[in-house]
Amino acid sequence: MKANIVTLPGDGIGPEIVTSAVNILKEIAKIYNHDFSFEEHLIGGAAIDATGNPLPKQTLLACQKADAVLLGAVGGPKWAHLSNVRPEQGLLALRKALNLFANIRPIHTYDALLSLSSLKEEKIKGVDFIFVRELTGGAYFGKKTRTEKTATDETLYTVEEIERVSRKAFELAHTRRKHLTSVDKANVLETSRLWRETISQVAQDYPDVKLEHQLVDSMAMMLLINPAHYDVIVTENLFGDILTDECAALSGSLGLLPSASLGKESIGLYEPIHGSAPDIAGKNIANPIGTILSVSLLLQYSLGLVNEAIQIEKAVNLLTQHGPLTADLGGNAYTTEITKAVINNLHR
Ligand code: ATP
Ligand code: MG
Repeated sequence: MKANIVTLPGDGIGPEIVTSAVNILKEIAKIYNHDFSFEEHLIGGAAIDATGNPLPKQTLLACQKADAVLLGAVGGPKWAHLSNVRPEQGLLALRKALNLFANIRPIHTYDALLSLSSLKEEKIKGVDFIFVRELTGGAYFGKKTRTEKTATDETLYTVEEIERVSRKAFELAHTRRKHLTSVDKANVLETSRLWRETISQVAQDYPDVKLEHQLVDSMAMMLLINPAHYDVIVTENLFGDILTDECAALSGSLGLLPSASLGKESIGLYEPIHGSAPDIAGKNIANPIGTILSVSLLLQYSLGLVNEAIQIEKAVNLLTQHGPLTADLGGNAYTTEITKAVINNLHR
């Protein structure tokens, strides 16, 4: 298969981890005889330094023409003093321009790494769920007002916004254990009541998927008490922001977790969930697994290459069993050594 992939290394450890993940993609192309082409562009702080704009026009045009976009990370202390332009604006503008409304985060624990989590091993063994967070609506994008003594953030959702993200979640659940948990606060919030009504309506199109509703406060607790219960979880923007950080704590290291931002078309934006980690940038010690697993999501969701995606997951699973590991996982291996080991594992 032919595919054009835009890479946006960005800032901090971004260039190191994207290089690692691109090498994995190149190996996959070799093994399975695909024709992947790569086009690198600027975003974030690196783009501000070069052009004054965190999302240069050239970058956006390239992304709009691509089959998929692979991003490292943006931001860092170097740009913190800028008041009129911030690296993170580049990423927000890109998500908006590509109309990406669903943020997908698989949360998966590895038997060999259970002891790294702050939770008891028997609680997190076998955890394997996908979190779907709505990205375009809610309090983050509603009308804001401010006087000296009052402030408001309007929370707005439309049926269309709820429907499209619900469908994504049902479709994912349909390919998995057919169990979808919708998280809201329908006992208090009107937007949550619309959310619950709408997703219940959508459920009629997916009769094989079992839909359950959970209030966000009890969900925050259940994720720590019984995380293995969940298959696919879907929720609105603000609740999702908070709960996905909680989920990250289940896995043991931020460096392991991938994400995908998807829209109606097949083009998606793939990136690790962690930030630019300026404290370890340029030292060849960043964990590239979150980015490598993002590539696995890219193959699956944007290119439909499911076997290739599974092969990468298997290679990472072998790595967690036999090493080598980076410092965040208790090892002392370099980023480039991890890349080589994963490439070797792809052939096993
Ligand atoms: P952002 O605001 O961009 O989300 P953050 O402040 O949440 O960033 P990160 O950049 O994600 O922070 O880093 C948090 C901590 O985790 C840092 O100590 C960083 O070194 C570490 N870290 C993050 N990603 C990795 C990685 N891939 N490998 C190793 N350590 C990492
Ligand atoms: Mg952060």
